[in-house]
Amino acid sequence: MINLLDFDPAALAAFFAERGEKPFRARQTLRWIHHRLAARVDAMTDLAGATRNALARDAEIRTPAVVRDTVASDGTRKWLLDVGSANAIETVYIPEDDRGTLCISSQAGCALDCAFCSTGKQGFNRNLSVGEIIGQLWHANRTLLADGVSTPWIEHGRHPITNVVMMGMGEPLANFDNVVAALMLMLDDNAYGLSRRRVTLSTSGLVPMIDRLRDECPVALAVSLHAPTDALRDRLVPINRKHPLDDLLAACRRYLEKAPRDFITFEYVMLDGVNDDTATARQLLARLQDTPCKINLIPFNPFPGTEFRTSPRERILAFQRTLIDGGIVTTIRKTRGEEIDAACGQLAGRVEDRTKRKLGSRIAVVATR
Ligand code: SAH
Ligand code: SF4
Repeated sequence: MINLLDFDPAALAAFFAERGEKPFRARQTLRWIHHRLAARVDAMTDLAGATRNALARDAEIRTPAVVRDTVASDGTRKWLLDVGSANAIETVYIPEDDRGTLCISSQAGCALDCAFCSTGKQGFNRNLSVGEIIGQLWHANRTLLADGVSTPWIEHGRHPITNVVMMGMGEPLANFDNVVAALMLMLDDNAYGLSRRRVTLSTSGLVPMIDRLRDECPVALAVSLHAPTDALRDRLVPINRKHPLDDLLAACRRYLEKAPRDFITFEYVMLDGVNDDTATARQLLARLQDTPCKINLIPFNPFPGTEFRTSPRERILAFQRTLIDGGIVTTIRKTRGEEIDAACGQLAGRVEDRTKRKLGSRIAVVATR
């Protein structure tokens, strides 16, 4: 059975053309699925009867099954989704005063093996399909609406999710085609209609793919930097050995020619005694001199078996102060919703492990302003 969530707007148009249907039928169907969030072809009442019956025979709207649904006292909500073969992914909804942000996964596991990342430590299982990626957004919007979530922008006819960050499990640029197809749906006015500035993709630095994203679908870009020198970054983010810092920063500057914002966001995880002293902050300032950017410091979220510790608060503040004094806007990622477990770098692995695991971790709140 065809999963209609696997089609981006162009693919859905091609699918309808092959079936001898008019292009506007594809647009109508796109709106039913992604705008009105229909769960069944039968519900698409203004499709011509013959079109609808034929479509219902061959196609459906299929999302991964929800294994667990957890809500923190501050409204942060996490869905654990089963993507088969005992693999699970996570999707996190982060409500704020003026927006609803969804953190989306792009792969089950990750092959890039960053030293401080629990997803990386679990290894790579597989790329998510387009339907599994966009299905996270479809599911979150639909569930929040069904649960009667109340936000001012819903009253203005918009979906509960106003911002997306591709910062869940996996390296989005390592699953390029499926991720770009999902981005196309996020941006399409007949689907989710999000502006490019409200969709942020985070990458560990796959340089050739940063260039492709610039050419094919330049959404807001966040880059996981974590170190100002190749010697240190080689250790923390192994992909740096293939795409060293000079190449990465040059790609960031090229990206800015087409980016929806005039800066790149650099993420920087604060690891106690590893990359968090003032001398390192000064090296970072020097290194980023020519690259318009903001920096988001992420307090390290520990997980069982890790060799790293979270930097003490005073050191994070001192690091931030050095960067701000050097002229770079620098924020510290907020933590909240401590009772549920959904922080950066701690996302789900295998279904059975996760249901057993219980960590007193924190939720990361992503600043995408
Ligand atoms: N693979 C992409 C996106 C997913 S990770 C990337 O690496 O950018 C999202 C962010 O969480 C990245 O900046 C990543 O470096 C960070 N992260 C990973 N593990 C973490 C941990 N244990 N604590 C805090 N941040 C972590
Ligand atoms: Fe993969 Fe990102 Fe984790 Fe690195 S930090 S292992 S790229 S998910």
